[in-house]
Amino acid sequence: MYRHIKVPTTGEKVRVVNGKLHVPDQPVIGYVEGDGIGPDITKACLRIWDAAVAKAYGGKRKIHWCETFLGEKAAGLYDGNYCPDETLHALKDLVVSIKGPLTTPVGGGFRSLNVALRQDLDLYACVRPVKHYAGVPSPLKQPGKVDVVIFRENTEDVYAGIEYKAGSPENDKVTKFLREEMKARFFDGSGIGIKPISAFGTKRLVRKAIQYAVDNGRESVTLVHKGNIMKFTEGAFRNWGYEVAREEFGNVTITEEQLYAEYKGKQPEGKIVIKDRIADIMFQMMLLRPDEFDVIATPNLNGDYLSDAIAAEVGGMGIAPGANIADNIAVFEATHGTAPKYANLNKVNPGSLLFSGVMMLEYMGWKEAADLISLAYPDVVSDGIVTYDFARQIDGAREVGTSQFADALIERIQGGIDLEAKRRAQQEQLVKERKQREIRRLLQPMEEMMSTGRRPQTVGDLMTRSLITVTDEETVESAMHVMQDNGVSCVVVEPNKKGEWGIMTRRDIVTKIVHANKNPATQKVKDVASRPLFSVPAETTIREASRILADRNFSRLAIAQGDRIIGIVTETDIFGSVERFGWLE
Ligand code: NAP
Repeated sequence: MYRHIKVPTTGEKVRVVNGKLHVPDQPVIGYVEGDGIGPDITKACLRIWDAAVAKAYGGKRKIHWCETFLGEKAAGLYDGNYCPDETLHALKDLVVSIKGPLTTPVGGGFRSLNVALRQDLDLYACVRPVKHYAGVPSPLKQPGKVDVVIFRENTEDVYAGIEYKAGSPENDKVTKFLREEMKARFFDGSGIGIKPISAFGTKRLVRKAIQYAVDNGRESVTLVHKGNIMKFTEGAFRNWGYEVAREEFGNVTITEEQLYAEYKGKQPEGKIVIKDRIADIMFQMMLLRPDEFDVIATPNLNGDYLSDAIAAEVGGMGIAPGANIADNIAVFEATHGTAPKYANLNKVNPGSLLFSGVMMLEYMGWKEAADLISLAYPDVVSDGIVTYDFARQIDGAREVGTSQFADALIERIQGGIDLEAKRRAQQEQLVKERKQREIRRLLQPMEEMMSTGRRPQTVGDLMTRSLITVTDEETVESAMHVMQDNGVSCVVVEPNKKGEWGIMTRRDIVTKIVHANKNPATQKVKDVASRPLFSVPAETTIREASRILADRNFSRLAIAQGDRIIGIVTETDIFGSVERFGWLE
């Protein structure tokens, strides 16, 4: 029994059975109206979501809304309590809910309500899909290329809140320990923060991100980290992320290394590519090549910056949706604040809450209703019917209020949309773009690597794949012509009877033919070639390969796959890579 929350008896509760969500046709879904502009946008969105569900399922399905209270409305009802226990209980019990923005009371020892919710309900994944809708103003030349879903860790990293103020007794204690026992060096009077990142926290987040990619037919999952500097936190996030992919999703994922080395850039059907990027490169990439990224999994602070920056590329916070998700509970939410100056003016854009509801419908498996909204939305915006925030960016737009925008959208939804045709067109476009990326990877692997922010890491990334081979019985002269015609300094010699590969270099010819005063026209390749050919696997790191080159005084290495030679990497390749991409110690 709740004090103020009235759970509608007309609907059934959403349940989780064996980790799977069961959504009845008449579910009870929780909502929090929110503060400031919350009531305006919530009222408008409830009407739109209901209209989309009614249109999609002709009355067979219907949401039974259950109002729960947080923020100022809660404080009014629960004797000044902004975050009543019964609301937390109801949000857990209802499993799926959606909330408007909440005021964070300043001072007085209040915890941010949003942080409190995340911590109390252990909502460990903050999920932010960011995509462009036609007609929405954007600073990018081709905003349509942005379509990513960010999974940001919600409980660790800077959100753990472990900090010690400069000059405090706690800080003195930590400082003493770090300096005396850990031999750490830093300036006097430093504030100190601790950044914990665990295998547990990382893996449950990355697991969710990969599962999302699997469920939604996505192309890749990118782990975004700053592991080049913070090896044991951000770097560990990367390593644990790859571990989850390998150990739990091994049959549906490949790494980007494998994509280039084993599949030569051609993504196998049904496999998701797991890759990683350093956080700062990722900011560049999301401006220059946003279509290279799909699902992103990242620790808390990177995710904080990245989600707002990417949202700004496609229309800003006014329409960026979000959700905070745990294993058995999800709270969808507008990502902007309460914009108090616009409260009760029927003015602001309902887009952020609206699309959070679209995410929620997708999460519930009600894709038809979700698609009706996201496919009708660009039509209304392209007609120039927009709220003030877009109106000031679009010439000739007709500015309308929040509820009038909802009316226009509902009219469009009810007017009927050819869902199948629009979905087909979207799918065709997606397939076309994937193909284009694949062709670029196949034709110019190095260039693609560079322009998509990937640093070569193994000899497989650098090797020349188009091997020029000769046979033992050819004359040295003919092999020299082959080398000259192809502009190469060595040729691989095909296996002899013992199955051993060989190599013949320019140097071999200078030392074993010219210096020895022999005639290349009469000498055979087998007399000059070096055997057996020393080879390493494609996964050998560039550093390890450099060690071998140095130790053995080689200038090139053959790359083998099993007993086949598949490429050659030379010191010139390594030099060229370091010159282009730099070298991280
Ligand atoms: P804000 O409420 O997000 O507002 C900042 C500006 O963003 C607004 O002045 C407006 O820009 C624009 N904006 C926000 N929502 C919009 C919408 N729906 N449509 C169009 N434009 C929109 O940020 P704030 O002023 O920093 O924070 C106000 C309160 O909200 C604070 O108490 C803060 O703690 C809280 N907050 C809550 C949440 C949450 O509950 N998730 C998140 C962030 C902040 P223009 O002035 O340019 O028109």
